Amino acid sequence: MSIGPVVERMRVFLVESPIKMARAQGVGSVQGSVRRVLLELTASDGAIGWGEAAPWEVFTGTPEGAFLALDVYLRPLVIGAPVRRLRSLMAQMDRALTGHPESKVAVEMALLDLMGQQTGLPVSELLGGRVRDTIPLSFSIADPDFAADLARMHEMVGQGHRLFKVKTGVKPHAVDMEHLEAMRDAFGDRIDLRLDYNQALEPFRAMTVLRDVDRFRPTFIEQPVPRRHLDAMAGFCAALDTPVLADESCFDATDLLEIVRRQAADAISVKLMKCGGLLKAQALMAIADTAGIPGYGGTLWEGGIALAAGTQLIAATPGISLGCEFYMPHHVLTEDVLEERIPQRRGEVVVPETPGLGIRISAHSLKHGARLLAEA
Ligand SMILES: [Mg+2]
Repeated sequence: MSIGPVVERMRVFLVESPIKMARAQGVGSVQGSVRRVLLELTASDGAIGWGEAAPWEVFTGTPEGAFLALDVYLRPLVIGAPVRRLRSLMAQMDRALTGHPESKVAVEMALLDLMGQQTGLPVSELLGGRVRDTIPLSFSIADPDFAADLARMHEMVGQGHRLFKVKTGVKPHAVDMEHLEAMRDAFGDRIDLRLDYNQALEPFRAMTVLRDVDRFRPTFIEQPVPRRHLDAMAGFCAALDTPVLADESCFDATDLLEIVRRQAADAISVKLMKCGGLLKAQALMAIADTAGIPGYGGTLWEGGIALAAGTQLIAATPGISLGCEFYMPHHVLTEDVLEERIPQRRGEVVVPETPGLGIRISAHSLKHGARLLAEA
C-alpha cells in the first residue's frame, strides 16, 4: 500500500516571549520572559504542520536541550518519515532518545497537524472525535501582588470566569489563609477555587496546613508535597474531604500505575510536556478512567501551538473533565506566533473546528510574535 506523503523539511526555532506579569510559583518564579521551541514540518505534498516543545527547567528539561534534541537526535528520524505512520515514528524516537518528552510531543503535534491539513479534519477528530466543544478555563492566582490578582479576578468573574487556581505555599500560611478568606468573601460560591502547592510543603507538617485550607472547600488541592512522597499523598487522600491532585508526582503512565497502586491521588494533572504525546496522554487517561481518577488539563509555559494541541486533546478525551489552565496566550504572554488566538468565551476555551490543530501561522506572525534566538 502507498505510504502517503513523507516529511521533507524540518525547521526548529528557539524563541523567547516577554510576559506581562511576574509569576511567583514557589519554584522557578518567572519574570520578564519565557523560552520555548517551535517546530515546522513540511510534507512532500506541500502541507505544513506546527509543533511546540515548552519545557520548564525546574520541572522537565530546558528549551535549549529540546532545541538540540530535535535538531541533532530526532531530525534524522523525522526527515523521510511517512506522515500517516505516527505511532511507528513515536516508537522509533523513544528507542533513539531517552527522556525529552517535550521534543517528542512537538514532533507528534506537527504530524497530527499535517494529517489534519491533509484530511480536512481537526486533530480532535483524528483522536476519536470530540466529546466537548468548549473547555472551562482556570486562571492561576500567582501574582506576588495579591491586590492586583484580586482586581483581575473581579474583572474576570464579571466576564463569566469561574475557575481560579491559587498558588499556595509561596507566601506564609497565615497570608494564604487571609487571601483565601478574601476570595471566598468577595465571590462566595460563584468561583470554583483550586489550590496548588507546587510541592511546597514538607510531609512533616503538611496535614495541619491542609486541614486548615480544607475549610475553604477547594475543588482540589494540587501537589502539596514533593513528587516522591507518595505515602504522604495517600495519607492526605484518606484524611481530607478535599480531593488531592497529583501533578509533579504523575508525569506518565508508569507514575500513574504506582499512584493507583498506592491510592496516592484522587485526580491528576495531564500535561503534554510531561507525558510526551497526545496518544500517550490518551493512554494515560485510559488507566485513570479505569481507576476512577479524573484529569485536569495542565500546562507549563506553553504558547499557542502547544495549547492548541492540548485543546484538541481535551476535546477528544472524556476523562479530562476538570477544565484546563490554557490562559497563557490571553493573559500572560504579551504576544504569540499565531495569526489569531484560540477563542475564549465566558471563561471557556472554544475548540477550533478548522483542520489540524486549528491554528494559522504566517512568516509575518512568526517574525513578530516571538523573539528568535536560534534557528536550525
Ligand atoms: Mg501544578
